[in-house]
Amino acid sequence: MAELEALCMKCRHQKGEEHQMQKMTSLRVEKNEKGRYSARGQCGLCDANMFKFLSEGQAMKLKDEGVEYKEAA
Ligand SMILES: [Zn+2]
Repeated sequence: MAELEALCMKCRHQKGEEHQMQKMTSLRVEKNEKGRYSARGQCGLCDANMFKFLSEGQAMKLKDEGVEYKEAA
């Protein structure tokens, strides 16, 4: 099961520094028109929207693990 942690500004704000990294749910990977990879999802703790830039290696690993992958046309 593919998993990714990202910075949640909302949790950081409400629950303190030690909770800033949260598991991303509804994870999907995108490649934009400039060739940059990113992940989008929701915070597993508070459901806030999350965004994280990925390296190509990270993006391909998540794609291989079955995460929804979309490329900008
Ligand atoms: Zn959160």
